[in-house]
Amino acid sequence: MKTPPDHVFGGILFKIVMAKNIFILALLLSSVAVGRADGSSAASVRQRSGSLYELVEKASRNQIRRDSDGFRVPTDGQLKAWRFIVESIFAGRMGDAQQMIRQLSFPYELSRFTERSDGHEYIVLEETVPLQAGWGFYVFDPASKNPLVLEAPHPVFDSNTEFQAIDAFVQTGASAYLLAGAHRRANKQDTPCNQPKSAESSATYPVSDVAHAVATPFHAVHEALVKVRPAMVAVQLHGMTDRQTCPSAFISNGSPSVTTNSRKLLGCLTKGGVEAEIYDGDATCPLTALSNVQGRFSNGETKDPCKNAVSSSPEPGAFIHIEQEPSIRKDRSSWQPVIDALKCAFPGSSADPAKAPAPGRRSYVFKAGDNPAVTVFYHTPAKIDNKTRVIVVMAGRQRNADEYLDPWVDWASKHNYVVLSPQFSQKDWPEPLGYNFGNIATGREASNTPNPKPRWAFTVVEQMFEEAKSRFGLKAKEYDLFGHSAGGQFVHRFMLYMPENKVRLAIAANPGFYTLPDLNTVFPYGVKNSPFRITEDDIRNWVKTDLVLMRGTADLQRTESLRQTPEADAQGKNRFERAAYMFERVRGVDKKTKWRLIDVPGVAHDQKGMALAAQRVLEAEL
Ligand SMILES: [Zn+2]
Repeated sequence: MKTPPDHVFGGILFKIVMAKNIFILALLLSSVAVGRADGSSAASVRQRSGSLYELVEKASRNQIRRDSDGFRVPTDGQLKAWRFIVESIFAGRMGDAQQMIRQLSFPYELSRFTERSDGHEYIVLEETVPLQAGWGFYVFDPASKNPLVLEAPHPVFDSNTEFQAIDAFVQTGASAYLLAGAHRRANKQDTPCNQPKSAESSATYPVSDVAHAVATPFHAVHEALVKVRPAMVAVQLHGMTDRQTCPSAFISNGSPSVTTNSRKLLGCLTKGGVEAEIYDGDATCPLTALSNVQGRFSNGETKDPCKNAVSSSPEPGAFIHIEQEPSIRKDRSSWQPVIDALKCAFPGSSADPAKAPAPGRRSYVFKAGDNPAVTVFYHTPAKIDNKTRVIVVMAGRQRNADEYLDPWVDWASKHNYVVLSPQFSQKDWPEPLGYNFGNIATGREASNTPNPKPRWAFTVVEQMFEEAKSRFGLKAKEYDLFGHSAGGQFVHRFMLYMPENKVRLAIAANPGFYTLPDLNTVFPYGVKNSPFRITEDDIRNWVKTDLVLMRGTADLQRTESLRQTPEADAQGKNRFERAAYMFERVRGVDKKTKWRLIDVPGVAHDQKGMALAAQRVLEAEL
């Protein structure tokens, strides 16, 4: 059977694009990106959630079949576009990646995918079913600092390696997962790449065998990853038949040399009870991976990995090829020891907190309507159930939402809370109006322009809670809200301007100054001339809310970050005094107010100390 003509394939019309046109298109896309605040384009990327493992099952089930001649060999232009897509994803330019897919009519969908089991967000590049091209299935984690990349070039043929690789990807917290979209023997045509004699003599490699052909999107993704992650260590999982001459696991580096990384992995496999050997140029097991084109590329042969083998692997080792006998890849429990060995050999990378140093803080990007994107740092308990609660943490003026997350992590695991710490950037939500006042208005405090309610940061927080419910599968109907410093200012005003909120308990810790329950004092110190009218009824309802004012008894400094206008100083000389003043004014409105004033002994202007104290308050309400 002949390869189908270049422009028509499986009923889909691919645009024929020359390499130079891709370059122009890429330039065009990146120039469009310059004007945008978050670097994303108008093309929106679908959000979805589910199980990565199930996506791999689907990809494996639907792959282009053996002897079907169904794998479409991409043109140079298409490969270039494919690399551009991957580089864009890692540069945070999702819109550009999306646009390239659409412009070239690739039968692919790009999505932000939340893994249900742990709430972590990945980028998924998935071919639509039925497959038209067989270009592979990819999962990316651009936020990962992990050098590992997991590759499954021979799904189905090397049975179960695709599933073992996705388990390894998730457990190690790796940067990427690559799965071939076609059976290695889908097409009959031979690859033009060299096939050294050291490999299986009976084997020929077709153009659909991604480990031996460079004109494949799989190889293009590998190339792009080496560019965006120069320190990457690609681990390729393969399967072999039972062989007398081979151990259960046979490691090689794509060259006759041994590297620090492969030696470490060998040690970990052996320690874990897996019979393993490493290829050092002289071995009886013939599966030495010398013809593997990803190996050649990672080992430095970037010019022509199709034709040229490499003589050695640069240290500490960028490519690890593992051949495995059926006994160590027949099901989840049998393939776990190899994954454990990967975690052992690359300990800083593990996503398993029990076995390695704490993983990096996790985050996702939340976008409400036309508002600028907000990065949400988060933590989830080991298991989310019907009783899981939600705490929203509002950072101070430095907007270091990542650091604000930290003191809540252990506590949240213990008390079954999901923690959301949204980062309202200074650039998109400039203080004070943009953040401390919930972006209810823009401009200067005295002469401001009210913003429509969908633009309010207050609104964004409510919507973030709603979205998190579906993202993490939460049953909670309300949430707790904690803010420190500028975040504490946010919290008390939120309760006034957003009375329809879903907050159960609000905690405002060490705010710099207050909006008083006072119709005669001018905004922002009172509510006279407020951007949105506040009535006496609004104030009565406000002081009935369940709000805790917390003050550190050592928060007495008048630093430059403390507002020192006459109106602010009228509330007290420091944050400690101002909290008491506010509380007295609230009691002046309603003696039986639900508000509480709680002192935190010995703590200064310190978010961590206040967070720990807030946790005691929350525990008392559980
Ligand atoms: Zn293989």
